[in-house]
Amino acid sequence: MFKNKKILVLGMARSGVAIAKLLNKYQNEIIISDIKEQEENVIEELEVLGIKVVIEEHQEDLVNESFDVLIKNPAIRKDHPAIEKAKSLGIPVINEIEASFFYLPKDILIVGITGSNGKTTTTTITYELLKTLNRPVYLAGNIGIPLASIVEEIKENAILVMEISDHQLIDMKNFKTNISVLTNLSEVHTDFHGSYEAYKQVKKYIFNHHTNNDISLLNQENQDVLELTKDISSQKYYFSSKHPADIYLENDKIIYKNEEVIDIHDIKIKGMHNYENCMVAIFIAKTFGVTNEAIQKFLSAFKGVEHRIEYVRTLNGRKFYNDSKATNNESTIIALKSFLEDTILIMGGLDRNIPFDSIAPYLTHVKRILSYGETKDKIRSFAEENHVDSVVVDTLEEATKKAYEMSKEGDVILLSPACASWDQFKDFEVRGDTFKKLVNELK
Ligand code: ADP
Repeated sequence: MFKNKKILVLGMARSGVAIAKLLNKYQNEIIISDIKEQEENVIEELEVLGIKVVIEEHQEDLVNESFDVLIKNPAIRKDHPAIEKAKSLGIPVINEIEASFFYLPKDILIVGITGSNGKTTTTTITYELLKTLNRPVYLAGNIGIPLASIVEEIKENAILVMEISDHQLIDMKNFKTNISVLTNLSEVHTDFHGSYEAYKQVKKYIFNHHTNNDISLLNQENQDVLELTKDISSQKYYFSSKHPADIYLENDKIIYKNEEVIDIHDIKIKGMHNYENCMVAIFIAKTFGVTNEAIQKFLSAFKGVEHRIEYVRTLNGRKFYNDSKATNNESTIIALKSFLEDTILIMGGLDRNIPFDSIAPYLTHVKRILSYGETKDKIRSFAEENHVDSVVVDTLEEATKKAYEMSKEGDVILLSPACASWDQFKDFEVRGDTFKKLVNELK
């Protein structure tokens, strides 16, 4: 617990504001800073509480030996001048989750979910399944809910489900879960951490302080996961989409302790990656005693987390899916692998000068590609090289309307752009919302 300390909070995104407010209640002196101008009402709300707000480009100028601790936003790099200065002065650098951890009731159980892909989906399903229990359950972390904003509500005997990213793990020291999941590892975020090796070592912090009383759930089919977790101390359990394990897929059925829990045809979200996400959530749910009936009821209705191969609507036999979160080739490949039906693919967006070639092997059922945005012509060339019909338009609106006009009954119409949205939209959420609105307006 922090009390009577002088604390510098760097970054005024949601988590920074939440931790500043929490720590302020415990007689700490708080200075919060951001490089960008902030909304007047946010500043005013903090200042009324006695929190000092400083908008400052050179945040290193704020750091001096009078601070007891620095709390940094997960997006700030470890080589940021302010962070380097704090470290050279011996000031501990932590983050919002680590700081909030000290304010949790002692008898709760924490489920921490990390991995290169599937975190949000797995965390969401886990939380929803646990909610069917007669027990308080909370959701927090990278999913958009700062732990600091809910920590005071958390009741004793609760279960806290947390999505935790590597950007968060890097500044966690005392934080400890009771159940940790590593969904998978692949070569991402190497720029942030310096190397894939460094990234993997950070992911390992999810098992910090684990003993034989704690549980880890690991992907049996991911060599890097197996390698990384060789020497962790938790009880290790495994999930697998290919071979028998503690929870696994066999003949299209998810099997847990020799018992069929659900047939994948009864799961609404599609794709092997999603069945893996479901297996993780089911394993945790079963550990806490959720019934098969409750699992079946939820998974037969759950449409997916917004913007991730999210089912939108069926119109005249055409199924529409919104995969706006797919901002790179890998995600679009996963989406294409999730369908067997004839597919009309909508792609395009910000041009990062990355070729689309890696998508080519997954186009067998794609009968047309509609492209728009900065990359529209590159996508047209890519489609032509791979003998797929292509249509170039300027906007997502035109692409959506044309895709529907050109479709047949039984087709899937999939927005999976393989590009960031910033050429035409604020973010992938706005792009996905726009698509859903357009789809819902089609007649
Ligand atoms: P994260 O929170 O880790 O970014 P999400 O659940 O938001 O993961 O899913 C984002 C995208 O990652 C999905 O649209 C899909 O392309 C891919 N994905 C999801 N789950 C998995 C998985 N288990 N394995 C591989 N890729 C996945």
